[in-house]
Formats: sequence, structure tokens, C-alpha cells
Amino acid sequence: MAATEVIVLGSGFAGLETAFRLRARAGEDAVGITVVSDRDDFLARPGTVRLPFGAAEAPLHVPLAGAFRRRGIGAVIATVEGIDPGRGQVHTSRGRMAYDKLVIATGAATRPEEIAGLAEHARSIAAPGALHQLGADLRRAAQDARHGRLQRVLFAVPPGNHCTVPLYEIALMLDTWLRRRQLRDRVELAFDTCERSFVEAFGPKMHALIAGQFAARGIEGRTETTLTEAHERTVGFADGSGREFDVLATFPPQVAALGCAELPHDDRRFLRCAPDTCAVTGHPEVHAPGDAGDFPLKLGFLAMLQADAVAGAIAAELHGTPPPARPAPVVRHVLDMLDDAAFAEVPLVADGGPGRVDESSARYRVGTGAFWRAGARLAEAALSARFRLGLPFRASTGWAALDRSPCGSVPHHA
Ligand SMILES: Cc1cc2nc3c(=O)[nH]c(=O)nc-3n(C[C@H](O)[C@H](O)[C@H](O)COP(=O)(O)OP(=O)(O)OC[C@H]3O[C@@H](n4cnc5c(N)ncnc54)[C@H](O)[C@@H]3O)c2cc1C
Repeated sequence: MAATEVIVLGSGFAGLETAFRLRARAGEDAVGITVVSDRDDFLARPGTVRLPFGAAEAPLHVPLAGAFRRRGIGAVIATVEGIDPGRGQVHTSRGRMAYDKLVIATGAATRPEEIAGLAEHARSIAAPGALHQLGADLRRAAQDARHGRLQRVLFAVPPGNHCTVPLYEIALMLDTWLRRRQLRDRVELAFDTCERSFVEAFGPKMHALIAGQFAARGIEGRTETTLTEAHERTVGFADGSGREFDVLATFPPQVAALGCAELPHDDRRFLRCAPDTCAVTGHPEVHAPGDAGDFPLKLGFLAMLQADAVAGAIAAELHGTPPPARPAPVVRHVLDMLDDAAFAEVPLVADGGPGRVDESSARYRVGTGAFWRAGARLAEAALSARFRLGLPFRASTGWAALDRSPCGSVPHHA
């Protein structure tokens, strides 16, 4: 048995990057690693935005059994039911497990019930099944439009969602999808968000880019419009206004997927943790990278940066060295519009509270270019290939390789 037993909960971006990077830094005699997850694969969620437009789902599921075997990592397929930090135990559907170090990477779930009627009348974009249903709704709307009935598709970002950018992506993709079918003039597209600006977490340059895209494509966009209720064909907003729709797409309010009453958490059950190491407040032996933690922006890219920090901190403790310094996070994101793509590099402020954009940084840049579509697909393929082999992705260096490619110069947006 290894000197230290690490249990990692979840096989998403944060859990796998933590497990594979830790294994790359410490052998089986130094650390035992076990991943506990309710699924036996990795779901490459960013690619799921293409599902409503006919993309295949199978390539987005990466099998993991071979990767775990190759890297000497234990795998338990089970549902985590609770954590007992006092005893250092995890309670699962297959029994109890003891840990020296625990990494809670169980991600986020959605809670559409927070808004009256949302669960019944809106399509969520949070999971592949719902995205297939959204695709069926959009095909039906296209059919009705073809038969001369004007259609209205509404996208709404409600309060409590910490990952708004994919909904913009789907709205912009839909515009291109309809144009390619010569149906765009028969389908009205509207986008209402409770945010103060479009993709608020990416700052003013991204707002300008999205506003420009909406204007050019004839998408009616509104900010600071808080959705309060949804009915069969209408929605209501906090300012008393309303809208009619034929299809309503949303990314509902988020909460932590796993509730841990015994650990400090915010009102959405996200675990309170240190921004640099994701160590849970008052529990240095427990880390919560990715969507499970209380960082206010939830993205796979950030989840992997956080996982790298967690693996670095655990490895440093094992080796008796100081934890590696962690620079302020820089988010990189490609937003696919089918006919074009937007790229954003967004440095976040290190000491001004998490999730705020460092607007003065020379690295803060956004731009457009169809080549970013290919770049993003390349990064997705590289991530899946590395996870399939049980290797960490190295979120920052993986994207840095793209920087050095011919498509790497990003024009600054006005
Ligand atoms: C449509 C869509 C598009 C997106 N596009 C992008 C993008 O382009 N770029 C980007 O950076 N981010 C994107 N995101 C966000 C990104 O997917 C998440 O931020 C990321 O998945 C978070 O990683 P995670 O490892 O923390 O959680 P997850 O990926 O959600 O993984 C959680 C893991 O825990 C497991 N689990 C949960 N509960 C339990 C339990 N009780 N017991 C056992 N196992 C459990 C799950 O099965 C899963 O394996 C997108 C999200 C969506 C919905």
C-alpha cells in the first residue's frame, strides 16, 4: 500500500487532470490514486454544443478503463453519497472508502426549479440528452418556418448560472444553421440575459464582440433582463416585460452536483476554497477544483488549471517541497459560430476577487477568425487523446502550442 492514499471524486475535466497530473509527478509507491465516478467515461462537454445541429455524440465520450490501468490508478464506478471529513471517509453506493487526501471534482448540476415553469417549458443545454431534444425542437421550428409560419427562438440566461458562454455559442450557431437553409428571415432570434453585459465574465471586449455579432446577424439581444417565469409559449421578466416564443433554450441556475453539508459551502452548495490551491477552507486535506468549488466562473479550461494547482500542491507535500507558485488564471475560449469563430483570452485579477477581468493586461484580447474553429477542434482532439492515454492535458501549454501555430495571432477587437 502507498504511503498516501488520494481519492478523486469525479471523472470530468478537474478529476482526470488532477489524477493524471499527480500520477505524472508521483509513482505508485509514493501515492495511491483512486478515481470514484458514477460514469466510466469522460464526457467532452464543450463539443456538446454541436449536438442540436446534427453532430454525433459518440466521439465526445472517451473510455477511461485503459487509461486508469496504464497509469496504475484505481477506478470505482459508484455514486458518492456523502463525505465524513472527521473520519476521512467517503460514503459511496458501493461502501465506504478511507482517504488521506480527498479531491472533490464532482462538478455542477442545474436547478431549473428556481424559476417557475423553466423545467417544463424550456430546453436546457446542460446535458447531451436535452441538447438532442433542443435539436429536435429546432428542426421542427425550421419545418414550420419552411411552411410559412414565422418562428421565434428565445435564448435566456437566468440568474445563478456561472457558465453563460455556451448559450451564446448555440444562438450564433443557430443563426448560421438557419441561413444555410435559407430560413433565417422566417425565424426571429432573441437573446435575453440577466448579466450586465454579454458574457459578462469575459469583460467589455467580449461584450463589444457579441453585440457586433448580434447586430450583424439580426439577433435581438438584451442585458440586465432577469427571467422570472416561463409558460407554454411566453416568458416574463423582472421588469414586467414579456416575450413570446416557439422554442426556449436556457442554461438553468447551477448548484454543486454533490452536497457536502459537513464542509463549508456557499448558498449554491459550492465548496468554499482557496483560489490558489482549491483547498477547502479549514480542511487542507480536501481540495475542490473545477465546478464543485466556489470560483464564480465555471469552465472546463479553468477546471484543468485548478486541477494542475491541486496536483502540484499534493505532490509538493509528498516530496516535502514548497507548493509551486501559481500565476493568476488566464481563460482561453473559442466560441464556434459554424461560419466563423471568436477567440477570447481573458486574464483574471489575482487579488481583486476571483472571476474579475484584468482589463489593463496586454493579454486581454478577443478576436474573430474561422481558423479558430480548426484550432478549437484540434485542442478538443488533443485533450481526448491525452485523457485516453491517462496523460494530463496541461491546459496552458496545450493552448500555447496553438499560439505558435500560423493561426495564433489574435487581432484586437475594437
Ligand atoms: C453545453 C456546454 C458547453 C460548454 N463549453 C465549454 C467550453 O467550450 N469551454 C470550457 O472551458 N468549458 C465549457 N463548458 C463548461 C465545462 O463543461 C465545465 O466547466 C466542466 O465540465 C467542469 O469540469 P468538472 O470536472 O468540474 O465537472 P464535470 O465535467 O461536470 O465532471 C463532474 C464529474 O463528477 C461525476 N459526478 C457528479 N456527481 C457525482 C456523484 N454524486 N458520484 C459520483 N460521481 C459524480 C460526473 O459523472 C463527472 O464525471 C461547457 C458546458 C456546457 C454545459
